[in-house]
Amino acid sequence: MKPVYERFIENPDFTKPDFVELIKCAEDPEAVRRLKEEAVRIREIYYGKKVFTRGLIEYTNYCKNDCYYCGIRKSNTNAKRYRLTEDEIMACCENGYELGFRTFVLQGGEDAYYTDDRMVAIIKKIKEAYPECALTLSIGEKSYESYKRFREAGADRYLLRHETANEEHYRKLHPEKMSLAVRKNCLYDLKKLGYQVGAGMMVGSPYQTTEDLAEDLVFLKELQPEMVGIGPFIPHHDTQFAKRTGRKCGDDTVFARCDPNPAAEGTSSGNDSTWDDGSAWKRERAAGRSQCRDAEPFSGENRKQYELYDNKICTGEEAAECRGCMGRRVASVGYELVTERGDAV
Ligand code: SAH
Repeated sequence: MKPVYERFIENPDFTKPDFVELIKCAEDPEAVRRLKEEAVRIREIYYGKKVFTRGLIEYTNYCKNDCYYCGIRKSNTNAKRYRLTEDEIMACCENGYELGFRTFVLQGGEDAYYTDDRMVAIIKKIKEAYPECALTLSIGEKSYESYKRFREAGADRYLLRHETANEEHYRKLHPEKMSLAVRKNCLYDLKKLGYQVGAGMMVGSPYQTTEDLAEDLVFLKELQPEMVGIGPFIPHHDTQFAKRTGRKCGDDTVFARCDPNPAAEGTSSGNDSTWDDGSAWKRERAAGRSQCRDAEPFSGENRKQYELYDNKICTGEEAAECRGCMGRRVASVGYELVTERGDAV
């Protein structure tokens, strides 16, 4: 019988037990090589050598939630809280536009200060000033009505990682009043409203098993998101998981290939690079699906404060330098940083 990864390459319509077997291949160098090769082949069919960037605007680190793994969780009293004004957000867009970003991502904690009315005003203002740019929101769980208002105001995409598709695992990472069912429901609402939707999970989060990861892949297959954000869990010193360590790095290559949607785009707030001391760019090319980068260049001093995990990269760089450095790194592995929206195809 053929090895599981060859079966997967032939027909990726896998069930949970198949995915469990496939994830275990992360230990096998030949499997990893074949999956990388296949990932590059498929990626190049859809996106050629292009790498898209996303201008991430981390506009608030106030949050009403208390996710146990996250550095900006409500009960972290050591976090220095900030929020950007509308003018500051617009200045970020202006700077980003000049630097060649054609997607802006408004990401933040769940901050009640930004009511739906305030969000709608900001969305409209950005879309009026930059009609050819895509606007992505990553502002957590909202009602169908709120998502609808944001969509009508002009938001194009929404990132909301499901975090883990296993109920029991979800309970170990979140307080009682948060729920996986609500989170999943939000994702289906977003799909219904015509957003390009991004789901995803951390790899190596506390208590995560191979079976949990397989369930994540089954869920992604069912949801069919346009984007998938898969990044390593990185402990934050002010959380109860401060002393936890993540999983080995072979795994995310397997995930990159596992994603059932060939057009999926990955985003991860620079954590691959944080995690992998420089070789991430080569790995990224190999993994094939993560053809975009969050650039996070704009929020100035606040970028240090938007600390979901420890040792975030490039927090001190000027946006221009950061993009220049990114361009060179992309070129060094034979790819090209482009000035485009980079929609899912
Ligand atoms: N409040 C928004 C944005 C969350 S921050 C929301 O609820 O969607 C974006 C992502 O950062 C989270 O979805 C989570 O997967 C990731 N994250 C948080 N803490 C992390 C950590 N310690 N290590 C790695 N990723 C983390």
